[in-house]
Amino acid sequence: MSAYQFFEQVNRNFDKASTYTDHDEGLLKQIKICNSVYKISFPVRKDDGSIDVIRAWRAEHSHHKRPTKGGLRYSRHVCEDEITALAALMTYKCAVVDVPFGGAKGGICIDRAAYSDAEVERITRRYTYELIKKQFIGSGIDVPAPDYGTGEQEMSWILDTCRAMIDSIDSEACVTGKPVTQGGIYGRKEATGRGVFFGTREACDNAEDMKHIGLTPGIEGKRVIVQGLGNVGYHAAYFFMKGGAVITGIIEREGGVFAKDGLDVEALTKHRQETGSVLDFDGAENITPGSRLLEYECDILIPAALENQINEKNVNNIRAKMIVEAANGPTTTDAHEALTERGVLVIPDTFINAGGVTVSYFEWLKNISHVRFGRMARRHEEQAYLKLAKAIEEMAGKAFTAEKIKELSLGADELDLVNSGLEETMIKSYREINEIRRQFKTDLRTAAYILAINEVAISYQQLGIFP
Ligand code: NAD
Repeated sequence: MSAYQFFEQVNRNFDKASTYTDHDEGLLKQIKICNSVYKISFPVRKDDGSIDVIRAWRAEHSHHKRPTKGGLRYSRHVCEDEITALAALMTYKCAVVDVPFGGAKGGICIDRAAYSDAEVERITRRYTYELIKKQFIGSGIDVPAPDYGTGEQEMSWILDTCRAMIDSIDSEACVTGKPVTQGGIYGRKEATGRGVFFGTREACDNAEDMKHIGLTPGIEGKRVIVQGLGNVGYHAAYFFMKGGAVITGIIEREGGVFAKDGLDVEALTKHRQETGSVLDFDGAENITPGSRLLEYECDILIPAALENQINEKNVNNIRAKMIVEAANGPTTTDAHEALTERGVLVIPDTFINAGGVTVSYFEWLKNISHVRFGRMARRHEEQAYLKLAKAIEEMAGKAFTAEKIKELSLGADELDLVNSGLEETMIKSYREINEIRRQFKTDLRTAAYILAINEVAISYQQLGIFP
């Protein structure tokens, strides 16, 4: 077992923030503790007939709100400490972005690449079955979503197993991050990366904060290095590139690539799909090991792979002006202290990667209400806009062109509404934590924890459990 204790790191951040609150000690203890952890071992038959024993967990950190919510991770590093820490982060994250769920997380200790799709399907279905047996899954109980090593396919298997086992009109809401054809929602796959972009853009638009770290306002022209070209990393890099940033470096397991004038993220992803590696990409320099790129000079460093990437070993060499924690727990507590002392602006995981759970919340709402967003209002909106445009034409005595009329009268569809809800959430939450940061003269991570602790505390107090 490694010396790195993830849950302890989360709790150190919690303890620091709690000194800025005046809540009852017992209440703070209750908020911090993990309410339940289900540890499972089960056999799976491999394609060659042999049997593997699989270890898996589901942690529900806080039941102050139901359902609990959090991703499902497949990795050979999965252990109870990691899953508990990630579940706690989910509680705080949901509270920061005002998503009414308790925090949870699941994990299966497997190296995904070492198993065939058929084996992963058997593992996923058996894991789901075990959760159902112990009431650790359900639309009003605990709702998984994709995380490291999982995606739409795994969510579909979970849904199908739940549908077969649970007779409920709401069984579609037992999992989020599903394909749209299976009750998923437009915009969920890219939501975390898009949210990372919205939140960082809001931070960069604050001229005073940018001046403080020696940067000019705006995303445009910012040099960005991203670690991890998976779901979150790819989409974050893509939206930054589209927003005018220059992606100078991408780090993957096999190594990194660097190009000072910028990498085309879509072309690089295609290259990786074709060759199995980001290395040897046209016009880019290979950097091995890839982790060396974390220490390259840039404006924004986005770790989007795993926890414990910026730690006591490399923190003194980090030259980024901003660190945007798209991954969960990429910076250790000590490294974070060192960075903030040096004036680096760290945008914490508990806020910046909350786009995924925000859009998962929208998906869950869609599933329990059994209606797609925009269905009731879109035509009505379009008619109203059209009437307004006609009234303007009459007043002006001049007609709009057909294209202009079309543009002016367009009602919002599901994707427009999802993206607008996500943008609103990230901007509003950033302003809130930045205000708390200013008020207490602290850092953004501590500010996010202060906000989260206060939100969860109010919930417990309203339940009448604590003074
Ligand atoms: P993913 O499995 O889609 O992608 C992870 C990528 O990181 C993979 O391409 C993998 O090869 C790469 N990687 C692994 N180790 C690496 C290393 N040492 N250096 C460089 N690259 C490495 O996972 P994801 O869903 O993108 O999740 C990434 C992180 O974001 C995790 O910390 C996860 O908890 C967090 N997160 C994910 C979501 C979501 O919606 N998927 C939401 C919030 C937070």
